[in-house]
Amino acid sequence: MPELLEVEYFRRLAERCAGRTILHIDVPDAHALADGRSPRSLRQAVVGRRIELARRHGKLLVLETDGPALGLRFGMTGGLVVDGELAIDRLLYSPGTFGTAWVRFGIRFDEGELLFHDPRRFGRVSLDPDESRMGPDAMAVTAAELGRALATRGPAPGPALKARLLDQSAIAGIGNLLGDEILWRASLAPSRPARSLAPAELRRLHRHLVATLADLLERGGSHTGDLMAERHLGGRCPKDGSPLERSTVGGRTTWWCPRHQH
Ligand SMILES: [Zn+2]
Repeated sequence: MPELLEVEYFRRLAERCAGRTILHIDVPDAHALADGRSPRSLRQAVVGRRIELARRHGKLLVLETDGPALGLRFGMTGGLVVDGELAIDRLLYSPGTFGTAWVRFGIRFDEGELLFHDPRRFGRVSLDPDESRMGPDAMAVTAAELGRALATRGPAPGPALKARLLDQSAIAGIGNLLGDEILWRASLAPSRPARSLAPAELRRLHRHLVATLADLLERGGSHTGDLMAERHLGGRCPKDGSPLERSTVGGRTTWWCPRHQH
C-alpha cells in the first residue's frame, strides 16, 4: 500500500506538470471520482486551468491549479505515470508492470499527460480535497505536534501507540510498514498506550520517526526497512536476534521485538 514515501515519489514526478495547461480529463472509470462527482462536472471545474504545483499532505497528493485543486488518494494499489514514466518501477504490492486497463483517470495537458492507475480501485480523485481532518504531515511533524497527537483523552488506557501513529487524523502519512519500522527503531512497544510515553521517550520517537522516513525515502520506499525481511513466522530481530512476535494492534498485523521494545 502506498504510504507517504511512495506518495512523495509520485509528487516529485507530478511536479514536472507545473506550468502545464489541462486540455482534457479522461475518466475511464467514474468510480475513481470521490463524492459521486461526474466526469462532466470535474471537467467543467479544471479544463483550461494551469497546474501550479504538486504538494503532498500525508498520503494525499494535491495538484494545485490556478482554479480548484485536484486531490489524489492512492488507496491500496494506486500509482502515477507522467509522460510515460512510472513514479516507482516496482512496488511491493504490484506486479511491477503498468497496464493501460488499470488507468482510472488521466489528464491530458498542452504537453504530455498524467495517468492515475489503480488495479484494485480503492484510490480516489477529488476536487478541492478536505484536509481539515488530517493531522500534520509525518515528514514535517515537530516533537510538540507529535506529543499533542499522542496525548489522547478519554478513559484509560486509551489507544495504542501504533494505532495512534497510523491514525491519519492524528499524524498523516504513516502506514503499517513504516509504523512497525519506526517503533522497532525507537525501541517502543506498539501496544503501549499512546499517552504513556515519558518526555524522553517522546523525543526518541520523534528522532527515529524523522530519521526513518529520511532513510527509507533514500533507500526506495516503505518496504526497505530493516525489519522487512523478518516479517514472517520465525523472523528474528535484526538488532538482538530475538524471535519477533506477531500481534494485532489497531486492527493491523504488527511485528515487533519483545526483548528490546518496551
Ligand atoms: Zn530486538
